[in-house]
Amino acid sequence: CRNLILILGDQLSADISSLRQADPEADVILMAEVMAEATYVPHHKKKIVFLFSAMRHFAQELRDAGWTVNYVQLDDTDNSGSFEGEVRRAVRRLTPERVVVTEPGEWRVLENMRHWQDDLGLPVEIRTDSRFFCDASTFRGWADGRKQLRMENFYREMRKSTGLLMEGDKPAGGKWNYDAENRKPAKQDLFMPEPLQFEPDAITQDVLNLVEQRFESHIGQLEPFWFAVTRAQAEAAFHHFLDEALENFGTYQDAMLRGEKFLYHAVISAYLNAGLLSPKNVCEKVVEAYYADNCPLNAAEGFIRQILGWREYVRGIYWLKMPGYARENALKGSRPLPAFYWTGETSMKCVQEAVGQTLEEAYAHHIQRLMVTGNFALLAGVDPVEVHEWYLAVYADAYEWVELPNTLGMSQFADGGLLASKPYISSGNYINKMSDYCENCDYNVRKKTGEGACPFNALYWDFLDRHADELGTNPRLGQPYATWRRMPDDTKQEYLDSAKAFLAKLDAGERV
Ligand code: FAD
Repeated sequence: CRNLILILGDQLSADISSLRQADPEADVILMAEVMAEATYVPHHKKKIVFLFSAMRHFAQELRDAGWTVNYVQLDDTDNSGSFEGEVRRAVRRLTPERVVVTEPGEWRVLENMRHWQDDLGLPVEIRTDSRFFCDASTFRGWADGRKQLRMENFYREMRKSTGLLMEGDKPAGGKWNYDAENRKPAKQDLFMPEPLQFEPDAITQDVLNLVEQRFESHIGQLEPFWFAVTRAQAEAAFHHFLDEALENFGTYQDAMLRGEKFLYHAVISAYLNAGLLSPKNVCEKVVEAYYADNCPLNAAEGFIRQILGWREYVRGIYWLKMPGYARENALKGSRPLPAFYWTGETSMKCVQEAVGQTLEEAYAHHIQRLMVTGNFALLAGVDPVEVHEWYLAVYADAYEWVELPNTLGMSQFADGGLLASKPYISSGNYINKMSDYCENCDYNVRKKTGEGACPFNALYWDFLDRHADELGTNPRLGQPYATWRRMPDDTKQEYLDSAKAFLAKLDAGERV
């Protein structure tokens, strides 16, 4: 063949740049399920099913459109287990003139690809991934010479350059950011929307069987499996969100409720990140909904900010700062990740809910990730690498380019404040305000120290005390540090003793 076009598992978009100017008569597409990628962290079973099934469906769609697709299944006898091995085998089989691929979402894989040209002895063209609003070099240009790389500034530039929610050169409604309206706690509601769910078809059923056999030791519940696995299904799921949940998306964005796994969230990140949905398209649809009076501005702006702002910004940071970024540990976290992250077996109701639904669905919404599991790990001084590997493994939407900056930067402050201007920490009070978890918890959120007190309370002050050198002069922490300094010594000591006793129990592997 002329070109061998490699399509990776998160490149399931018909307009992917590797297919540009390709010719179904002359070129062959290669897709491969490889063990190295499925196991380098112990991915959640549902995540593996989602990706393999979506890949198989995409390959089928390409064939239906007239392409020749060489698809290597995980169990194929000669499967070498790595991308490189599969490309090598395909080159031998098909003797192409060159290999074409869209850049991967992970530094490790890109580094490996850069050697292929020499190793294979033929041209390897690595193309920019044009599915994003902002490519790595444009981000670098934005970042160049700036003292601070704040998301908000980047986001405003992106609003201007795309024209999304812009009225002339002004932001719609006159303000750039309606976040202040997006912090309401939610109430239990019989009419809470649910994401659209899909029955597994024969292809998905095959993959379910494969994963059950081959990834038995991986975490997570395999069934019920209800994710979209094709672009048409993912679009239906997104339209369902537009009709049922977008209206309240902004207002309850930070809320958490017992048993409510999705609230008014879109539950589309796995689809976006695998390429089944286009970020440009979903943003345009939300702008349309706003101008058709189908949602308020705080919902539309809040949603656009997540995708046009945060999602693009974390990707920019990732490519700007790798590979060193993955090893940063500004607060020197060193505690192993507690075992309950893998089992949900803890008496802290908030953690139990967040981890429990993660194991069930390979999904938790942002505030659960940030202010429950992330907050706890940060307060407890867990090694950020272990935290990162957990997030990368357990969520269906997790790829290093998006997961690492969110975990290591935003959630664990391990980059020393490059991404977040202050650590996202809180005592039990915030969790109580934003959720109904605490009412149903074995711990008492109002009790500050001692037996039965919510562990977040003492851990919070212990964290601030422990990190006074690094964080004591942070202007955004001025208030809590002033409160801490004003506290009588014996009160301080009670907090510190309480935290110490809790961490000792944690380290001893006792149930906490
Ligand atoms: P919604 O709340 O409905 O938001 C809509 C969309 O906005 C999401 O689908 C997502 O594409 C985008 N978005 C929102 N926040 C972010 C963000 N901070 N960064 C990037 N995109 C964002 N998101 C991932 O896609 N993959 C990850 O591996 C991932 N890891 C995270 C780890 C931590 C510690 C934290 C705090 C956040 C992480 N996020 C990650 C961001 C966010 O939590 C998820 O994108 C979101 O929960 C996905 O659910 P949703 O589709 O219902 O999102």
